[in-house]
Amino acid sequence: MGRRVAYGTCPACFRVLALADAEHLARHGWREYGGRTVGVYGRAHHGGRCFGVDLPAFELTPEGAERFLRFLVEEMLPARERDLAAYEARPILHVVSRASGFRSASEALKELLPPPVGWERDPQWRLPEGSKLGDEVHTDWVTKRRAAEHYENELRNRIYYAKQALKQTRDDVGVVELKLATWTLRELPPPPTKRSRPRLRG
Ligand SMILES: [Zn+2]
Repeated sequence: MGRRVAYGTCPACFRVLALADAEHLARHGWREYGGRTVGVYGRAHHGGRCFGVDLPAFELTPEGAERFLRFLVEEMLPARERDLAAYEARPILHVVSRASGFRSASEALKELLPPPVGWERDPQWRLPEGSKLGDEVHTDWVTKRRAAEHYENELRNRIYYAKQALKQTRDDVGVVELKLATWTLRELPPPPTKRSRPRLRG
């Protein structure tokens, strides 16, 4: 039997999770509300560390959720609005090979798009070794027509996902506002049962 671990509700993802000490959330990954999982809708915007890591449990103080709400409203919403606007302006897409050794029109389209939030974690956006955004990346045009078709498909997808992401962030804002509106000081919860315990990442 090791040390007893306390549990608390994360002020960002609102799951009951292990605390690192008596108050603060231990490291865990982000997961969408509504059972959505990381990366399912497209561009893996939500991979990685949850915003609530190291913040105090929601039972103890609304402070963490207030910080998360500010982050959503001041950073995430504007970033997602910018993403959508950028795609709708029909930019020249910068698309780097999805699969090495497989040449296609997708490798040929290039330069230059404001990268979406979380682009560094998305394999589709991974730049070749030693290059940075804005660099010329090798191109191997298949045909201009195929490239043009690919552009339209790619752009349509990106607009779709940008709209989804924007909607999701707006929904997240609503969830956090509601949680804050009904916040009261509570005791920390018991450990979650096995069935409800989420898998921790990282
Ligand atoms: Zn969390």
